[in-house]
Amino acid sequence: MHSSYPAIAPQSAGVSPIYSASMSLIVQKYGGTSVADAERISNVARRVVETRQAGNDVVVVVSAMGQTTDDLIALATDVSSQPGGREMDMLLTAGERISMALLAMAIRDLGVEAASLTGSQAGILTDSVHGEAKITAIRGDRVREYLDDGRVVIVAGFQGVDPESRDVTTLGRGGSDATAVALAATLGADVCEIYTDVDGVFTADPRLVGTARKLDEVSYEDMLELAGAGAGVLMARSVEFARRFGIPVHVRSSFHDGPGTWIKEEAMEQTVITGVAHDTSEAKVTVHGVPDQPGIAARLFGALAAEDVNVDMIVQNVSTDGYTDISFTVPKEHMESARAAAEKLVPDLSARGVDVDPAIAKVSLVGAGMRNHPGVAADMFKVLSEHAINISMISTSAVRISCVIAADRCDEAVQSLHDYYLAEGATE
Ligand code: ASP
Ligand code: MG
Repeated sequence: MHSSYPAIAPQSAGVSPIYSASMSLIVQKYGGTSVADAERISNVARRVVETRQAGNDVVVVVSAMGQTTDDLIALATDVSSQPGGREMDMLLTAGERISMALLAMAIRDLGVEAASLTGSQAGILTDSVHGEAKITAIRGDRVREYLDDGRVVIVAGFQGVDPESRDVTTLGRGGSDATAVALAATLGADVCEIYTDVDGVFTADPRLVGTARKLDEVSYEDMLELAGAGAGVLMARSVEFARRFGIPVHVRSSFHDGPGTWIKEEAMEQTVITGVAHDTSEAKVTVHGVPDQPGIAARLFGALAAEDVNVDMIVQNVSTDGYTDISFTVPKEHMESARAAAEKLVPDLSARGVDVDPAIAKVSLVGAGMRNHPGVAADMFKVLSEHAINISMISTSAVRISCVIAADRCDEAVQSLHDYYLAEGATE
């Protein structure tokens, strides 16, 4: 009774996100800070038991405790300069295995039957890309069997298995969100709750902007853009799943019972701008003085793709005397391979040289309302100019405007854009 993951019908589409009625199926995901120590694991166990005792079926997805994943990565680089994808995934999947077993024990202590499953045991099948694997199918039968037995099922987040090699894989940083939403879709859950250390999705990072407000609702579309623009609260890929299968997602705090942020098809609030996001995880690469001719960009970006470099923004400058500069941003981890690939092409392209700059920040305004509201870009540039913040790159989608600026001006840019668009009594 295993079905191909993308072919699964969105059984919960159209279901009301209010699930107080009993006998719902609820998927709950707890992030690393929510299970960081024994006391917090006991708190999570209590919350899971309450949900179960209210008459719901519960599937729990857990992340590794606290900074475990970072610590394991550091250990790997201490023992090896080239840990390799297979062994790295073997190592990292151990983090989630620890928290799932501990949580299952804590739940059983409270008198509720629970069983933990690794991603592989839960039937989460992926492609073979170690460290960045994509879920290709979920065999939910074992999870369903345990649920039918009346147990709470705990599934290790962020991991699966490649059915061809039978090796375990990981889904990329923050991948437990994707596990939770994909399981919710497969099982036809009524809601996917993402428990975290913040109260929900905010109009800006609350650590940076004191006046940032928690949003009651965000549309899938805006959330996708916010997550892609650096809002760390949810992994972008999990939002794609949620949208594709119509799963309402409730992002909320694991430290109290208050409501968080609902992510669903249409948000009630109709504002022009939903939030300001920022991202300091990218670096800028510039290839100077390339001939302004057909085929140059194709070769440059072809070479980068061949090295698995993820390119985000791209800007090609105005050409002077038949030559132009091409700048693009990449994740900082890809900066050196991007530099090497571009430098290798310099003689071939008869370019002048390659520069990299890791001290950049990308600041983005997101909001579906900007579609029918001209002038947002102009206002954004004006706010930045009033603070004498220089813009080095610009990119847009239908519902987002992003500017690359110097990293040391990031906080000020986010704060002033938030003041302008989103503070109480702000312009719009
Ligand atoms: N433990 C993994 C990470 O730190 C997965 C997750 O937390 O979602 O990225
Ligand atoms: Mg996480």
